[in-house]
This record gives sequence, structure tokens and C-alpha cells, in this order.
Amino acid sequence: MEYPALHMIIDGEKVSGGGRRTFDVVNPATGERLGELPLADAADLDRALETAREGFRIWRESTPQQRAAVLQGAARLMLERQEDLARVATMEEGKPLAESRIEVLMNVGLFNFYAGEVFRIYGRALVRPTGMRSTVMHQPVGVVAAFAPWNFPLGNPGRKLGAPIAAGCSVILKSAEETPASALGVLQCLLDAGLPKQVAQAVFGVPDEVSRHLLASPIVRKLSFTGSTVVGKHLAKLAADDMKRTTMELGGHGPVLVFDDVDVDRVLDTMVPHKYRNAGQVCVSPTRFIVQDAVFEKFRTGFAERASALKIGNGLEDGTQMGPMANPRRPEAMDRMIGDAIAKGATLHTGGKRVGNAGYFYAPSVLSDISLDAEIMNEEPFGPVALINRFTSEDAMIEEANRLPYGLAAYAWTQDSKRQQRLMRDVESGMLGINSTMIGGADSPFGGVKWSGHGHEDGPEGLMACLVTKAVHEG
Ligand code: NAD
Repeated sequence: MEYPALHMIIDGEKVSGGGRRTFDVVNPATGERLGELPLADAADLDRALETAREGFRIWRESTPQQRAAVLQGAARLMLERQEDLARVATMEEGKPLAESRIEVLMNVGLFNFYAGEVFRIYGRALVRPTGMRSTVMHQPVGVVAAFAPWNFPLGNPGRKLGAPIAAGCSVILKSAEETPASALGVLQCLLDAGLPKQVAQAVFGVPDEVSRHLLASPIVRKLSFTGSTVVGKHLAKLAADDMKRTTMELGGHGPVLVFDDVDVDRVLDTMVPHKYRNAGQVCVSPTRFIVQDAVFEKFRTGFAERASALKIGNGLEDGTQMGPMANPRRPEAMDRMIGDAIAKGATLHTGGKRVGNAGYFYAPSVLSDISLDAEIMNEEPFGPVALINRFTSEDAMIEEANRLPYGLAAYAWTQDSKRQQRLMRDVESGMLGINSTMIGGADSPFGGVKWSGHGHEDGPEGLMACLVTKAVHEG
């Protein structure tokens, strides 16, 4: 399959060339240039804003039936185009093809879920004295500026587009410049399914320029961002100047509490593939393994054995279990953080080095006995490294889980039902998997607490995040 020609989509038009600045899109498995992406100038962004304003006028009038038909049609097209979409995502991001195919299915599930949910945007009538009528209603928030990162090249744009379109909003999507064809592929399915061209557009550019330009405009009423906490805080401040609504899906540092009443092999068989999924470049990736004394040795040894047996390679090749990292910044960060941890006394059991001469491959890595002062124990590593430390008491384990300002995903393994209840109450996270890594789904709110952000995507909560509430009192 050929890698497609790149462009933006503004007012339904494929925009490129014209002396615009460009960005080279690179295949992270080979280091080869895939294509040249045009970057928006100020005039492009102004045109996108005006078009989105018109798009909102059109789409706020749409019926739930129209919105459902577009979402279901786009879901059908994504399924028909699954193989092409998946291959493009793997070429751009590096993940194994099987993982890219799952991203398509995630979008299909989400769009179909929202196709049903559009019929359940209910208001309510309040009880008032005779002659008075009070109504609470939900209306689409308006134009949404959505910024999606590269780690789920198809799934992130799907989330950024699905909920606003279901709610009756219009969207300007700026997906990551590293993975543009995947985002364009998702948007094209919506347009081909009958979405009016003004309702959703895709721009690319210098991220700080685009976000400053869009967030300075009063046309935009909501910011939806997925990415690092540092950038999220910066964008939330820009949004605050105009009191725009925000959904912020930011970084995490997933704690995994492993108590001594578990079947260690079963935990490892589940957690090791989950750790190295997408080379660890997942915001809900399990990161800090907080392991109780009695099972610590077996857990650490078994983890390193399984990690070192993983087959690394080009995601397009059969049998690849872990692809490259998505861009050169990631292996650099791995070398720095793992080096710092070792210098501060940690033991490296496997990995800790780059692999091959081409692309951005990094070996699956396992560290143990890591000082809490090490950078890697405090900053999101966003890479293929597991951090395993030993603890004695339940209290100390929960304290470690909650030590950081992040609170996105957490995991716990224990058979004790009283302890499970305590974990449900006391672990500070937006999502918690107990004896499971399945922490999401189209119908389930996805989001964090503390520095991991606020608001949700997916589920009814993701739709509500694109609606504003109005109370009308008639005398
Ligand atoms: P980054 O923080 O520079 O960028 C993260 C994402 O935000 C990218 O998609 C980027 O295009 C976008 N971005 C950056 N500056 C922006 C701005 N001013 N306005 C709008 N968008 C902007 O870092 P990176 O090197 O791409 O990724 C590194 C870190 O980002 C990781 O360590 C991880 O913490 C975080 N990250 C998180 C997620 C997630 O799913 N939550 C995804 C990708 C990256």
C-alpha cells in the first residue's frame, strides 16, 4: 500500500502547497521519509475558524437521527477501510499492525455507541407552582478546538471527533504532525458518510502557533487536549483567558499494586504485554510496580524473563510484538531516565539500550529497587520500561500509589475482597483495574484526576462534556 499524499482539510477542501511551510513525516521503524505535510499559516487558521462557525450553525440544527446516521455510516466505512487505516497508522507510529487494527475497532465501537447516545440527551422539567414552567436543557457547547497526540494515531482523532459531532458541535482538529494521514483517514470516513464539510476540519502546523491562534479566537468555545501535563497546563491557561470549557487528558504514572495473595504467573501473563503495548507510549501504561515482599523476587525475575523474550521489529511484519518508539525524542528520554535511575542505585535486569541501526527501537527494559528521587519515579517515562519496587504493608503500598501528583490509571492485583473495597475508595485515579487491565470501553468514562487532567472522553460523560446546561424558568 502506498502512503497517501498529505494535506489539510478546510471547508471540505484538500489544502496543500502554495508556499506553505512543511513537516517531514517519518517512518519510525526505518527512519525513512514518508511524506511532506503542509503546515497552516494564519490565513488557513482564520478560514478554518470562519468555516467552523458556519459548521456549528448548521450542525446545532441537526436531528439526532442525522447525527446517528453519520456516526454509523462512518463506523461502517472505517470497518471497510480497516486494513488501509491500520497500515498507515503503523507506518506513521510504528506499533504492531494488530494494535492499529484494534484502534479502528475502538473508533467503530465509540461511533456506534454515540450513534445511540444522541437519542439520550435528555433535559428535565422541574416541579413548580401551577402557571410556572422550569426546564433544564442541554445544548452543544459550540466550536471545539481539539488537539490529539501521536500515540493512538487513529483512536485519538476518533475520540476528538466522535463526541463533539454527536453533541451537535463543530470541530477543528489538530492531530499530531507525526501521524497526519491516520487522522485524515478517520475524518474522511465522517465526510464520506455525509457529515457537512463545514462541521469538521483538520489543520496541522507548529503546535504552539496553532493553539495560540485558535484559543485566542472567541469563535472557539471548548478546548479538548490529550498530551503531556506540561503542555496541558499551558493550554488550560490560554483557554482561561476566554473562559473556554476544557477537557484535559494528560499524563499518568500508572501504579500497579501486586499483593502477596495472587497467582504471580497469571499477573505477569497479563501485565507484561500490557506494559509493552505500543512500546509503553500509552498514558494508562502500567509503570510503577509496587510489589509485596513475599512475591517480589518471583515477580521481578518473571517480568524480566518475559520482557527479554518479546519479539521487536517493524510493526508491519508478522509476529512483531513491540515496534519502535514513535520519534527520536523517546529513546533519548529512555537513555536519560534509565541512566539517571542506575546512577541513583537502581538495578537493570534487561534492556536499557537501543536496538538496531535504523529507526527508534528500544529494548524492553526492567529496573528494580529504584530510588524515589530518580527522575523516572517522578516523571512519566512514556516508554518500554517497568519499575519494580518492594513494599511490606498495604498502607505503604497505597501511600506509594498516591505519592505523585498524577492520577490517571491504576491497577491492583489481590483476591482479598475487603482490600479491593479499600483500594476502590483510597487509590487516587480516574480509572482503576482490579485483577484486570481492561479499564476502558466506548461506554466507560476515560479521564484522570489531579495533574492527569479533568473531564472525560467516551461514555455518556464524554458526550456531556460537549454540552452546556441551561435552566429556563417561565412564569
Ligand atoms: P509534547 O508534550 O511536546 O507533545 C505532546 C502532544 O501535544 C503532541 O501531540 C504535540 O503535538 C502536542 N503539543 C505540544 N505542544 C503543543 C501546543 N503548544 N499546543 C498544542 N499542542 C501541542 O511531547 P511529545 O514529545 O510529543 O511527547 C512527550 C510526552 O507527551 C510524553 O512523555 C507524554 O507524557 C506526553 N504524551 C501523552 C499522551 C497521552 O496520551 N496523554 C500522548 C502523547 C504524549
